[in-house]
Amino acid sequence: MASRDVKFRIRCRYADGTGEPWWENYEKPGVTSLKEAEEWAEATIDSFNSTIRPHERARKLLAVELLPDDTDVKRFVTHNWEKTNLITKASRGMSFDEMECKNCGATGRRYGLGQNGVEMSARSMRKRNHRECINKAVWEAMK
Ligand SMILES: [Zn+2]
Repeated sequence: MASRDVKFRIRCRYADGTGEPWWENYEKPGVTSLKEAEEWAEATIDSFNSTIRPHERARKLLAVELLPDDTDVKRFVTHNWEKTNLITKASRGMSFDEMECKNCGATGRRYGLGQNGVEMSARSMRKRNHRECINKAVWEAMK
């Protein structure tokens, strides 16, 4: 019986220790256990770090965790949102802040007090790297 692919997430940070760590979610064909997920993550980060380009920064792998089987990997994304406007904006009577994810570059709006989280822009929803919060530099390296 073939094992099923697992869903997992990896926690990374910049190797130089700056900035906040972040999560990235994955589901990879052939990765069917935590051990394989850890091996995949180590190999991916090693390969990224060994082919680094001048504008990129080395990464350090902090943790690998399995996600529940029924997790929708595309929705289970913790973006690292940062407000990009200085003054709150308004549209059709609703106040909002423009947000950008520091990890993947996705954009969105946070309405009101932000109790409903950030609504991702239609433009970002069409981009796989934004839906899955794949780090900008990692995404470039994957192309
Ligand atoms: Zn993101």
